[in-house]
Amino acid sequence: MDKKTVRDVELKGKRVLMRADFNVPLQDGAISDDNRIRAALPTITYILEQGASLVLMSHLGRPKGQAKLELSLAPVAKRLSELLGRPVTLAPDCVGPEVKALAAALQPGEVLLLENTRFHAAEKTNDPAFAAQLAELGELFVNDAFGTAHRAHASTVGVTQYLPAVAGFLIEKEINFLGRATGKPEHPYVVVLGGAKVSGKIGVIQNLLGKADKVLIGGGMANTFFKAQGLEIGDSLVEDDALDTARALLAEAGDKLVLPVDAVVANAFANEAHRKTVGVHEVEPGWRILDIGPATVDHYRQILEAARTVVWNGPMGVFEMPNFAQGTFAIAEILAEIDAITIIGGGDSAAAVQQAGVAGKVSHVSTGGGASLEFLEGKTLPGIAALADK
Ligand code: ADP
Ligand code: MG
Repeated sequence: MDKKTVRDVELKGKRVLMRADFNVPLQDGAISDDNRIRAALPTITYILEQGASLVLMSHLGRPKGQAKLELSLAPVAKRLSELLGRPVTLAPDCVGPEVKALAAALQPGEVLLLENTRFHAAEKTNDPAFAAQLAELGELFVNDAFGTAHRAHASTVGVTQYLPAVAGFLIEKEINFLGRATGKPEHPYVVVLGGAKVSGKIGVIQNLLGKADKVLIGGGMANTFFKAQGLEIGDSLVEDDALDTARALLAEAGDKLVLPVDAVVANAFANEAHRKTVGVHEVEPGWRILDIGPATVDHYRQILEAARTVVWNGPMGVFEMPNFAQGTFAIAEILAEIDAITIIGGGDSAAAVQQAGVAGKVSHVSTGGGASLEFLEGKTLPGIAALADK
């Protein structure tokens, strides 16, 4: 990675301002998945062990520029304190004289968590005066919020105008893995793409088609390709305004783009609907494609077993319904078994890999949904671009 990290700067005795991605899912005020907090621990622990004090900041949910009690970072402070085994003080806000005094009083090894940055509209507008107020709380800025790296906000980009800025270990890890997908991967390089829509993934297909040896298509997006080829797809999800794009991609990609050969179809969009497995030429009116079929899984398995690098984005079917999750889970299991660098990007894909129980058996599950997608599209992420070069 060509950006400086926490390893490249002196931390002893410093007060570090760190942006983390603590945007965790909440259910009835409790954290239902603390993976994002855990993902920040290596950087937090390293900074504290180096003899620095730490001011942490994050957004949570969409408070739309207003202080909302239900989107307070209080549950995060509690969970983080449990995971670190040391106290974490929650500030009453993220800026202002009281917060400034709390930050100034920090001793080496002490942790202050600022309240939700999006309680202020100035966060998302990247207001310079607001960014300067945040920057006053530390002497050095560390960004480890990969999930928000595609947003130029005050706490991700604005503060870098006022403080030396380096990456944390999570951002470093994300760039190292996702960078293989967009840079110089070991071949054969296979990309698996699924999800609901082609339109959301055109940038990814276009960027990776030139680099990959095969692009395996699944999920709802396959339907648009089928229709573009003139196949009957019944009531399947389709994007009619993406048909021209699909045709152009098919022509450009040739046999690099691989489509499913069979599908699990249902007579309604419901887990308990009637379902059957059919060839992709046998879909009847009134039925809809909700998963890839077993012959497709076998075909994809053969291609994946030969791969040295695999990137997967987008579920193969409507995996939220157990009866249509088999294709997605089968691909997850294949990725866990093969001898290749396996990289998972996308929020729903990451959830599918978790549910399949193989998150620990793939090389990397990206913590950034939108950010990983933009990275795979080859876009520059402003939160990373703003960090100091090596
Ligand atoms: P990611 O978050 O990993 O980038 P997407 O958001 O692009 O993935 O796509 C995930 C969604 O695609 C899921 O909600 C899933 O139900 C839906 N999906 C997958 N296959 C189909 C299908 N055949 N028909 C309708 N929706 C589908
Ligand atoms: Mg998604």
